[in-house]
Amino acid sequence: MDAKIRLYVDHPLGAGQSVPLDRGQAHYLFGVMRQSVGGAVLLFNGREGEWRATIAQANKRAGVLECDVQTKPLQLPPDLWLCFAPIKKARTDFIVEKAAEMGAARIVPMQTEFTNSGRIQRDRLAAHAVEAAEQCGGTFVPEVAEMQRFGSIMDGWDPARRIMFCDEALSTSRAAPLLAGATGPWAIFVGPEGGFSERERNKLRGLDHATAVSLGPRILRADTAVVAAMTLWQQALGDWG
Ligand code: SAH
Repeated sequence: MDAKIRLYVDHPLGAGQSVPLDRGQAHYLFGVMRQSVGGAVLLFNGREGEWRATIAQANKRAGVLECDVQTKPLQLPPDLWLCFAPIKKARTDFIVEKAAEMGAARIVPMQTEFTNSGRIQRDRLAAHAVEAAEQCGGTFVPEVAEMQRFGSIMDGWDPARRIMFCDEALSTSRAAPLLAGATGPWAIFVGPEGGFSERERNKLRGLDHATAVSLGPRILRADTAVVAAMTLWQQALGDWG
């Protein structure tokens, strides 16, 4: 039988490996998806690719799967971080989901001067990243970092990681063909609804390893800006080519 359901598990995968399911996964697989013993599922853990597994035990609150064969090798995304300022809850969820789908290696919530919310629910955001990977056929799940202040992110920054600074002040200028050829680690910076402050903008503009970019002549909402910026980056330097 062809396996259609993809599940992320935090457990080693390999030929003959047994994988226990937690309560939520058992509920999803057996209660919601109506799977039973003998059924096939695709598993990935973010480290060992994707494996086809057979359901060996199925109970309401638990279950065991057994790995058969590897169906995909681990495919790592390019070394691209997304540093973004969290906005309203549903839009922040959207940003994490889209960043995982679009191929971010790491997602860093960043508290800027005009960031609307001072807290994030990291577990909830991480669950959105997992769901996105399950859904888009990915074998990797980007880490969602703890929220950090813009200043401390900048203080600890490795200049070998270049910054694509999405600067709404450039919305009047033409989108620059800036990225071409600059391979290596990168991070995209997208500000909150209120934009970056003057101080933050000056800080970023003064860095040799940061490039300010325009995302076109309209001011985009932060969630739209994330998708647009990742599209540009993936097209120029990422794994879309
Ligand atoms: N309130 C701000 C807009 C913030 S938009 C203002 O009116 O100026 C949220 C974030 O999306 C910005 O901080 C920027 O990082 C990004 N962004 C939106 N539109 C953009 C554009 N046209 N060019 C570059 N970045 C953009």
